[in-house]
Amino acid sequence: MLSELDATGIPASQGDFTRLVEEVLQEVFIPAGKFQRTGPTVVDLMAARGVPFKMVIIPGMAEKFFPPLIRQDAILLDHERKILNRFFGGKDTEPLPLKTEGRLEEERLLYRLAIGAAKEKLILSFPRIEIGTGKERLPSSFLLASVRALTGEGTDFQKLEKFPGFIRIALSDIAVRSPERALDEVEFDLSTGRQKLDQREAEALLYLLEVSPFFARGLLLESSRWGKKIFTGFEGVLSSKEALQILQERYSIFKKTVSPTRLEVYACCPYQYLVKVMMGIEALVEPEKQPTIHPLDKGTLVHSILWRFFTDLRRERGSSFHLETKDLERLFKIADKEFVEFEQRGVTGYPMLWEVEKRSILDHLVDFFNKELNETEFIPTYFEIRYGMKPLDFQESEISTEEPVSVTLGGKTIHLKGRIDRIDLTRDGKRARVRDYKTGEVSAKANDLQAGRTLQLPLYLYAARQLLGRLHKGIEIESAEYYFLKSGKPVPFSGSELQAKKATLQQILETIARCIEDGVFIAVPNDRCRYCELKTICGTWTETLFERKAKDPRVKGYLTILAGEAKESEE
Ligand code: SF4
Repeated sequence: MLSELDATGIPASQGDFTRLVEEVLQEVFIPAGKFQRTGPTVVDLMAARGVPFKMVIIPGMAEKFFPPLIRQDAILLDHERKILNRFFGGKDTEPLPLKTEGRLEEERLLYRLAIGAAKEKLILSFPRIEIGTGKERLPSSFLLASVRALTGEGTDFQKLEKFPGFIRIALSDIAVRSPERALDEVEFDLSTGRQKLDQREAEALLYLLEVSPFFARGLLLESSRWGKKIFTGFEGVLSSKEALQILQERYSIFKKTVSPTRLEVYACCPYQYLVKVMMGIEALVEPEKQPTIHPLDKGTLVHSILWRFFTDLRRERGSSFHLETKDLERLFKIADKEFVEFEQRGVTGYPMLWEVEKRSILDHLVDFFNKELNETEFIPTYFEIRYGMKPLDFQESEISTEEPVSVTLGGKTIHLKGRIDRIDLTRDGKRARVRDYKTGEVSAKANDLQAGRTLQLPLYLYAARQLLGRLHKGIEIESAEYYFLKSGKPVPFSGSELQAKKATLQQILETIARCIEDGVFIAVPNDRCRYCELKTICGTWTETLFERKAKDPRVKGYLTILAGEAKESEE
């Protein structure tokens, strides 16, 4: 096969060579589940019972994998099955099988038969990490029991490595075994590196610091990350003079207009703020690969439906309009139109799932409509109110403005920008309520700043006061609330509570401002990590690292806010 490369008369590159070898290897396959006349047989333990082999290899001997985790049936437990069998199990009825009883014994018997089938050699193996998550895996109890039987000594995960027959095999070789066989400089360095490490002569690798900036930086990263008890630049604490100067000049929240949601991002996880807000890096969304509509698109869709619905009604019936039962029909029509628009954009995922999603959106809209129908106090008055930003290609409320909303707390002023979904006024125009629609799960608590993770509502109270103040002198902003459409639950932050929590709000904003200027952008594992687009970058070790370095005095201010949350929740 390789001679074919010679026949071309063109020297083959390493890439061509590797590709060819891979192709050849892929053509060789062993059918699973069939006994071979010659060569290896790949079968499950059940099929191999009682058949002797020269050599037996049992892979995957990891905990919970072999023997597998034996679970009860979640709906009908074993003891309930026994009761049913006692009553209904007759000669004509097969008894219900028990899900756990005897299963471990069965697995043990299969294992005994499999190892007994090896005439000359037995290889038992287990993966040390779980591919995909990087989590450590432990050897199975069967594997440990086998080693115990062979050595006559108790063993565990640590002692297993000392077993004379234990061999550790890397997932893939980083390079050829001998540097002389390296095809290029990189492979030579890698191969030399491994050889020297095997010979415990790590110092011989120091020449790499001179020749490879990548190696030098990698070494620095490893030693800083795992050797130091304080956060370094590699974990998001920037400390160089230049970096701090740039942060103070360009990123101070007192020197630019900021949106409450972005401040919430910082409060939740400073690293996320660095990557998404400051560096502007976003996950690549590939609509054609999305099985269902993306949560952000769903939010935009629902906002769009409700905005059209209310602005149409207001235009037709005037500012103090009443909702009527027949308006539900109008809501459906608008929703249908918007559904089609979103379908045409190609963001709605697989057709069948989209049908399910549409039905659920309509259900939530109906619940929402019925609640609005019973509303007697407030009238939806202003919709999509923009402030601190230039107009978009979108019909907005007449009170929208490019002027930012200024909030002065403790002598310092923050300039806010944003967009409010809706402001309702009472019939006498003396009180107002801010509403923000949410399509996700309930993630806020009433009158709770959640250590800065809910800043939108209290800051909306300030914004509404300034935006309405010009037209409605002396108006009272009663509350700002999230309306979670899925659960039909409003979560308010009341104006009176804002007075009580003003000092805490000030402390949170000041801390965020100071931490940004001081270069604190650490990754803080939290309950929202599983939805975070950066979780693959963060890796599985972020939590360990955070715990190791949490006593770093430079992050104390930030951690004090988090501690405040714990206290607030207890109260
Ligand atoms: S995964 Fe968690 S720790 Fe990492 S950036 Fe996202 S929120 Fe922060």
